[in-house]
Amino acid sequence: MSAVADPPGDTGAARVAALVRELGVTTRTELVERSGLTRRVVDQRVGRLAELGLVIEDGLAESRGGRAPRALRFDASAGLVGVVEVGGSAVRAGLADLAGTLLAHRTLPIDLPAGPEAALDVAAAAVAALAAGHGGAGLWAIGVGMGGPVDAARGRTSAIPLLPRWAGIDVRGPLTGRFDVPVYVDNEVNAIALGEIAAGAAVGDTDLLYVNLDHGIGAGVVIDGRLCRGAAGAAGELAHVRVVDADPPPCWCGGAGCLVQVAGGAVLDGADVDAVLRAAELTGRALANVVAITNPAHVVVGGPTARRDHVVETIEATLRRYAMPAAVRDLRFSPAALPGTGGLVGAGVLALANLFSVPVLGQWVDDGSPRGAAGRIHRQPLA
Ligand SMILES: [Zn+2]
Repeated sequence: MSAVADPPGDTGAARVAALVRELGVTTRTELVERSGLTRRVVDQRVGRLAELGLVIEDGLAESRGGRAPRALRFDASAGLVGVVEVGGSAVRAGLADLAGTLLAHRTLPIDLPAGPEAALDVAAAAVAALAAGHGGAGLWAIGVGMGGPVDAARGRTSAIPLLPRWAGIDVRGPLTGRFDVPVYVDNEVNAIALGEIAAGAAVGDTDLLYVNLDHGIGAGVVIDGRLCRGAAGAAGELAHVRVVDADPPPCWCGGAGCLVQVAGGAVLDGADVDAVLRAAELTGRALANVVAITNPAHVVVGGPTARRDHVVETIEATLRRYAMPAAVRDLRFSPAALPGTGGLVGAGVLALANLFSVPVLGQWVDDGSPRGAAGRIHRQPLA
């Protein structure tokens, strides 16, 4: 434990570690200014974080008059984050460093109809193999993006019956049991949205609508820099918005005439160009309604169907035609920039945002790593 007592969950060490990570490279003087802690406390905390390997003294920073101060750098290689995506059409696993950079990843040969538990098992084995092969730093956390609605606070798929075999699956429990690290779970499309904001087409965006066109059709809605998850984790489930009024075919969700029935990846496998563009138009019309409610600054469209000819352009043209003009006047519209890896990058962002939030840091920073502290950490509210 540190020599100076702090309130639980808000140790000066946690504030200093969070700041060093956020700033990348900094100085003790800047940490004093930004943290509100005294110079003496900052010195003591930086010394402790250096002992733990989280902060490195790295040359000299620019002088602001007088002697140049020592630069402090966050060591992103001190630990690893396992990242997993169990999505509409693929299962992927990878490793990221503590800055969220994807170090390795693979798409796994698994049949999704075998069910999400089997897919998670295969993905967990892949994370273990990648971490063992990486050597050095151990796993500190796992981030998971799951298809369908997710109860992020409890780390499981939501109980609502949109995807019957996927409802109510405990994702966090088995992974925490296997790796003894904190585990963070969110909807796959939310994870891709976070990935596009971190390193893709939406860097720096705080009001984003990310739309994923895969077997399912989902939207990741980010408002004021925060994911909008909804009461049951089902916000953004565009797949089951009704778009066919004349003689609507019944849908497995219990409704009829749903967007996924005419624009889902399974329907469009082998479909002709006209059918694909009709699907893109219906998607654009559905998005016009979402834009009216959420007023994004940027719409990003990704997923396998988005890579087919003219799909992104057709969605944009339809959206601009049907949306309230004021809502689309300054709207930016882009294809996704991280095909195949956005969900993994975002799963890392999700895990790291929580691991390095001040309340969670307060649970583990004095131990030097979050390994073994998952029980305490999971009781903290989501970042
Ligand atoms: Zn439906």
